[in-house]
Amino acid sequence: MYLTDATWTDAAAAETDLAVVPVGSTEQHGPHASLGTDAVTAEAVAEAGVEAYDGEVVVAPPVSVGVAEEHRQFPGTLWVSEDTFREYVRETVASLAHHGWDRVVLVNGHGGNIAALREVAGTVTRRDDAYAVPFTWFDAVGDHAADMGHGGPLETALLRHVRPEMVDEARVDEAKEGASDGWGDWVSGTNLAFDSAEFTENGVVGDPDEGDAERGAELLDLAAAALADLLAAVEKRDVRRPPDR
Ligand SMILES: [Zn+2]
Repeated sequence: MYLTDATWTDAAAAETDLAVVPVGSTEQHGPHASLGTDAVTAEAVAEAGVEAYDGEVVVAPPVSVGVAEEHRQFPGTLWVSEDTFREYVRETVASLAHHGWDRVVLVNGHGGNIAALREVAGTVTRRDDAYAVPFTWFDAVGDHAADMGHGGPLETALLRHVRPEMVDEARVDEAKEGASDGWGDWVSGTNLAFDSAEFTENGVVGDPDEGDAERGAELLDLAAAALADLLAAVEKRDVRRPPDR
């Protein structure tokens, strides 16, 4: 059930304790891919995962502004502080739990959100009346995960599959030329960079040409299967905190 499309009477009739919240970002994805990439891909994976899962799941509307200050030099990028983001996600989960949907998977599409989501999910689980766990789609696509850049092969592939109009194909060559090979400036296992503009000229990391629509379809299938498995595990998990179990 999609809360955006449902009525309150539909919501009242939902017989499940499972919910997903797509979590994205509004930020630069190079000259070729839309600012909304992370929210759109998170939503697409959430929908496909819920479709693949054998049971009812409530789908919340996406959180579209996240932890993205690292892209602030690129116009159009929006961000909130980690504190604001964590509080927003925590209260959103609390409102889902108020209606009885108290096992929540946060379906994430943005690397900058990962640490804050893990922390807030732990806080929700330990302190609030809900269980929450984050799922980041590009970490759940097997060997493809190693190719995750930024506006690179994986995100461009998934967009080409689910929302091709969000990729400006005429700018892909330009995207390639200004891209860097990897994320960050690393010395002794430490990333010296805090902003992406320190290591990528046009915001791209990785080669968008290595991500066609066919690869995008495969990524969506892999991520959806992983999310469906996770939903099954969350549904049957004993979520009482030790020492009660
Ligand atoms: Zn992204």
